[in-house]
Amino acid sequence: SRKTVIAGNWKMNKTPDEAAALINEMKPAADKAACDVVLCVPYVDLPAAVEAAKGSKISIGAENVHWEESGAFTGEISAPMLNALGVQYAIVGHSERRQYFGETNETVNKRTAAALAHGLTVLLCVGETLEEREKGITFDVIAIQLKVALAGISAEAFKNVIIAYEPVWAIGTGKTATAEQANEVNKFIRDTVAALYGKEAAEETTVQYGGSMNAKNAAELLAKPDVDGGLIGGASLKPADFAVILEAA
Ligand code: 13P
Repeated sequence: SRKTVIAGNWKMNKTPDEAAALINEMKPAADKAACDVVLCVPYVDLPAAVEAAKGSKISIGAENVHWEESGAFTGEISAPMLNALGVQYAIVGHSERRQYFGETNETVNKRTAAALAHGLTVLLCVGETLEEREKGITFDVIAIQLKVALAGISAEAFKNVIIAYEPVWAIGTGKTATAEQANEVNKFIRDTVAALYGKEAAEETTVQYGGSMNAKNAAELLAKPDVDGGLIGGASLKPADFAVILEAA
């Protein structure tokens, strides 16, 4: 049976000292959780976060990763660099990367392949904009995002991919997808995975929902059969709220 995974995405928040303090505060709730717990933090926070999470149920992830191992790529970080710190996860294809930093389905594919080749588990983000939803092309957009992002990724490598459905219109807006909307797209994602890797692989794939998931709405979203966890932004910076979400999972 597939894993339920609750992951936090801290985005551009917290210094290393603040990160360590926050993780220490979150450890008791994480250790009680029935699900896997991941916190994805800014690059500079990673050493402090890995250290603070030691001996707890919390695994640490980066918020992105480059496809080359090293070289002239100013401002980028490679998978071997993350390996060297004991980082186990990386978010790839977050909508903020796509919107503000020119990330494309092709670069998402290269980053995904490199991360998997270096033993990282990838939190692959997909999702439609409000305009795309209103045009009725949500499924088409997500099918293309998945097919291009996963091009050339073997069935064996794909076992280390978690997919996060994050409708762009729900991120940081306080406007959550309804549990029905989330489940509908998550099911479509699972069907697309089935077409690419087979039904059995699809049944084993963790498909998260992300976008204004919080202490109030988490239980209803997580109760849906195709919602296998969450990728949490704002609420993952609030220990009490994050604890409620972990308990709901
Ligand atoms: P919010 O939970 O703040 O809406 O962010 C969701 C997100 O983008 C997680 O990656």
